[in-house]
Amino acid sequence: MSVLQVRNVRKEYGDVLAVDDASFAVEDGEFVSILGPSGSGKSTMLRMISGFETPTSGEILINGEDVVGVAPFERDTNMVFQNLALFPHLTVAENIGFGLKRSGVGKADRAERIEEILEVVELSGYENREIDQLSGGEQQRIALARAVVNRPSIILLDEPLASLDRKLRQHMKFELQRIQEETGITFLYVTHDQEVAMSISDRMVVLNEGEIEQKGSVQDIYDRPATRFVAQFMGDLNVLAGTIGARSNGSVDVDVAGTSITIPIAGGDVGGSVDVGVRPSHIDLLDADDPGGLLPGRVLNHIYAGDETVYTVEVDGERFQVETETGGFDVGEEVSLSWDLEDTFLFENGKNVALADERAVELEG
Ligand code: ADP
Repeated sequence: MSVLQVRNVRKEYGDVLAVDDASFAVEDGEFVSILGPSGSGKSTMLRMISGFETPTSGEILINGEDVVGVAPFERDTNMVFQNLALFPHLTVAENIGFGLKRSGVGKADRAERIEEILEVVELSGYENREIDQLSGGEQQRIALARAVVNRPSIILLDEPLASLDRKLRQHMKFELQRIQEETGITFLYVTHDQEVAMSISDRMVVLNEGEIEQKGSVQDIYDRPATRFVAQFMGDLNVLAGTIGARSNGSVDVDVAGTSITIPIAGGDVGGSVDVGVRPSHIDLLDADDPGGLLPGRVLNHIYAGDETVYTVEVDGERFQVETETGGFDVGEEVSLSWDLEDTFLFENGKNVALADERAVELEG
C-alpha cells in the first residue's frame, strides 16, 4: 500500500487557486521530491499533507486512512522546516527527545534512541551541546535526527537546504540521501532547485501554477519531459520555432531556420507549428561546410569551462547555447550545428509531441 496518496486535491485561498486537482502517490521507502518554481503550490501541498492547512476539496491518505481534519501532531508524519525550528534553549538530546517524551517513551529508552540516531547523523557525543554551539550543517542534522527518531511513516521536508551555502548544500544533499537510505523512512522533499531534486530523489512530481505537469523517475522526466515547461525547468534548452512539413512512418520533417530536418518522432500534425528544442550539452559544432551539419550558425562568444567550451551561437536570429569539447571556433566564425536527432524535443502547444503520440497509441492499443 502507498504510504501517501493525494487524490484530486484542490486548495483555494480566496481568488487564488494554489493547488489544482493534484493526484500522486508515494510508496514505502521512496525519496520523492515536489519540484516547482516559487509560487507553484509546493508549500501549500506540504502543509496540507502535514495538516497545517486543509484542502478545499480532495483526499489525503496516509497508510490508507484519510487524514483530512486530523491535527498535525496526530498524523504519522514529521516535518523538517526551512528554518529548522529547533528549540534554542534546549540541548541536542532534549531537542531530539522532545517528541519521544511527549509520546510517553521512558528516560532510558529515550537516551538509547537518541544515541542511536546521533550515530546515524554522525554526531555521536553531542547530547549535551547547546543548539547555538552548533554549525549550520550540524543544526541541519539535529533537525533531521529529531524528525527521524520516532520513525514516522513519512518525513516532510520544506527546502531545508535552501539557506545553506553551496558547498554545504552539496554535502548535506548526500547526507540526506544516506540518512534516508539507512533509516528506510519515506521522504517527501519540497524544493525549487532542480539540481538538488535530481540528485537526491527516486521520483519527482513537477508542479507549475498549482498543477502537476509531470510525475515520474528523475531520468524519465529529464529525458522525456511531458511539456516545454518541464524541459526548460529541468535544464537549459535551446528553442526554435518550426513547422511540420511532412510526416512519414516514424518520423516528421520539420521546417526550421530555413532548412528541413527529419526527426524520428511519430507524431504531430502536418502544417502545425512546433517548438524545436535541443539541450546545449547535446549539440556539437562543425565547420560551416561540413556535410554532417544540421543548421547554420555564427559564433557570438565562447567561454572555456574546464574540459568543455560554452559557445553562444546565433541561429536564425536566436541565441543558442552549445556546450562541447570541440574548441577552436572564433567569434564571428560561420559554423554548423549538429546533434543526434533523437535528442530533439518537439512541442506542440507546449506539449511533447512524442509523448502525446505514445499516449494515443496506448489508448488505441
Ligand atoms: P511555493 O511553495 O511553490 O512557493 P506556495 O504554496 O507558497 O508556493 O503558494 C502557492 C500560491 O498560493 C501562491 O500564489 C501564493 O501567493 C498563494 N498562497 C500561499 N499561501 C497563501 C495564504 N496563506 N493566503 C493566500 N494566498 C496564499
